[in-house]
Amino acid sequence: MSQTDFLQQANKGIAELQPYQPGKPVDELERELGIKNSIKLASNENPLGPSPKAINVIKTSLNGLAFYPDGNGFRLKQALSAKLDVSEDMITLGNGSNEILELVAHAWLNPQAEVIFSKHAFAVYPIVSQAVGANIRMADAYPVEHASPFGHNLDAMLGLVTDSTQVIFVANPNNPTGTWLQKAELEAFINKVPENIVIVIDEAYFEYVNEDEYPNSIAFLGKYKNIIVTRTFSKIYGLAGLRIGYAVSSPDLAEVLNRIRQPFNTNSLAQEAAIAALGDTEHVEYSKQVNLFGLQQYETGFARRNINFIPSVANFITADFGIPGTTVYEKLLRKGVIVRPIANYAMPDWLRITVGNEAQNNRVLTALDQVLNAD
Ligand SMILES: *Cc1c(COP(=O)(O)O)cnc(C)c1O
Repeated sequence: MSQTDFLQQANKGIAELQPYQPGKPVDELERELGIKNSIKLASNENPLGPSPKAINVIKTSLNGLAFYPDGNGFRLKQALSAKLDVSEDMITLGNGSNEILELVAHAWLNPQAEVIFSKHAFAVYPIVSQAVGANIRMADAYPVEHASPFGHNLDAMLGLVTDSTQVIFVANPNNPTGTWLQKAELEAFINKVPENIVIVIDEAYFEYVNEDEYPNSIAFLGKYKNIIVTRTFSKIYGLAGLRIGYAVSSPDLAEVLNRIRQPFNTNSLAQEAAIAALGDTEHVEYSKQVNLFGLQQYETGFARRNINFIPSVANFITADFGIPGTTVYEKLLRKGVIVRPIANYAMPDWLRITVGNEAQNNRVLTALDQVLNAD
């Protein structure tokens, strides 16, 4: 009897899909190597954790766990609406902003459709696109010598637009490069994209960026009806474990996303914690300052060691080791330091390192000295 090949039998695109490789959990490393006190700077989490106010509200919300969450997320939408100055019908809540990316693919992509994103862009764009069999048109990024090394080349992306294009994913800033797009260039791009194409502007690191010319894409929504801005509570808000993110778009686009999402896609603890986290602007500001300090630590530390890096505006920094990144990664693991190899982003010699607190960043630099000079 022949064995069924369920993978080959799966929908077009799924067999070729490269599954997402998450950062290695601390527990797993310590179990494998029998070590203690390791640190994980591999998934761009906030080293300060969430606001204490979010933790407190989670504790008091535990009594309600027998009940389904508010499927409409009324109070969180209300809080976001006030904070972002948009109407509630422009908001879609997601189980992490990754779920929003998936909803976009379900809504507008199919085996006849084309989707555009940049080389070296966030790994979830190909996954959600291939899962629905869409045709990927990957644009060349800028070369490494460019002022925005491996960053999005919007002209190259525009050059791939055809009558079949349904969705364009833009990460600003991009992960894993940490590169960013200025307001003027991004708006010029949006202006040239046909208005029937959905442009997703992924702003997962929005709150970290400290550049005058960096756009708040929600401001584009008044003029352009084909934009979906995605943000998350996983990064600066320190709530990655709760899985909560959101999209802001025209009410027409939000209506489509809300139509196809699961009725209870965001859980009650996440909704409550997100409301509390939004209210703690001090914690967000402090997290931003700790990150700016840490970025400076890495920039100085790398320059001193002649390690080439991409200047970053996010909470991670990506550096070129001139040898396979996995080799350096493996050696760092033995020092109890978990970072992220990014060969799957076509950057095999590079590692992406999350900015931690001052002590953690120093530990990474010291561990690098040990592993790079060991042989
Ligand atoms: C981390 C990240 C996200 C957020 O993922 P969540 O599902 O909200 O945890 C989205 N986009 C990019 C580019 C990211 O790096």
